[in-house]
Amino acid sequence: MKKQFIVIGLGRFGSSICKELFKLGHDVLAIDSSPERVEMMRNFSSHAAVANATDEASMRDLGVRNFEHAVVAIGENMQTSVLCTLMLKEIGIPLVWVKAKDLQHQMILEKVGADRVIQPEKEMGIRIAHHMDSEKVVDY
Ligand code: ATP
Repeated sequence: MKKQFIVIGLGRFGSSICKELFKLGHDVLAIDSSPERVEMMRNFSSHAAVANATDEASMRDLGVRNFEHAVVAIGENMQTSVLCTLMLKEIGIPLVWVKAKDLQHQMILEKVGADRVIQPEKEMGIRIAHHMDSEKVVDY
């Protein structure tokens, strides 16, 4: 079933999520403050827009409140990611998933209402370790 997603922050993590969701046939609204990043996502999203993710008026103008699920993929600037998450929850987006850079960031995001917090490097490290564990070791 086709769903509607917003991806905010189009770095390596956000752009990869955006492209994959779009490839899977979903509607994706891609947002970044950098015009170059937005341009790069033009053909890999339903709509790509330049906006400051902490500016509530711009976000409302983009119609974010009609979306069911948002991903905030701004890892480095903790203040921006926290403010954006808080605002999306205040606007009423049911599912807000957010990238965190560390445990402190994660705890703050959970306090402001993030529905899922992701630490990509940590989660991928765990998955890779399990994958390595399950590989057959060939002893020469
Ligand atoms: P990566 O996924 O590449 O590891 P990152 O977690 O290091 O990225 P940043 O590089 O800090 O995260 O930001 C990711 C994207 O978010 C960048 O493209 C940046 O332009 C965008 N961004 C940062 N601040 C804002 C903002 N206030 N509004 C919209 N986009 C923003």
